Amino acid sequence: MGNTWVIDLQHFLAPTGALADMPSQARLLAEYFASIVVDATTNIDDLPTVRCRRRPGHRRCNGVVMSYPTCDEQDSIYWCCPVCNDNGVIRGWQNTLWDGFADEEMNAS
Ligand SMILES: [Zn+2]
Repeated sequence: MGNTWVIDLQHFLAPTGALADMPSQARLLAEYFASIVVDATTNIDDLPTVRCRRRPGHRRCNGVVMSYPTCDEQDSIYWCCPVCNDNGVIRGWQNTLWDGFADEEMNAS
């Protein structure tokens, strides 16, 4: 059984746009979500690269997180681990440092 995480990346950010100061465990989680955003918004044709962070039974899950942007009103990024079914929804990722789509628009103009 996995959990469903619904997070807003903005909640993890300092006014500068970088990750805010937070306890290390929260920061690891924030970095994990940020890397999912990168994975979902860049190199769409490449295989996903984010390793699942769960440790069911104290053994690291060997799943690779699948992530993809959706077309709901907040363009949420959905992700899930096909091995342990950990899954979640990331919102508020647009125009953050990890938004690969923003980079592409900048390069195109
Ligand atoms: Zn997993």
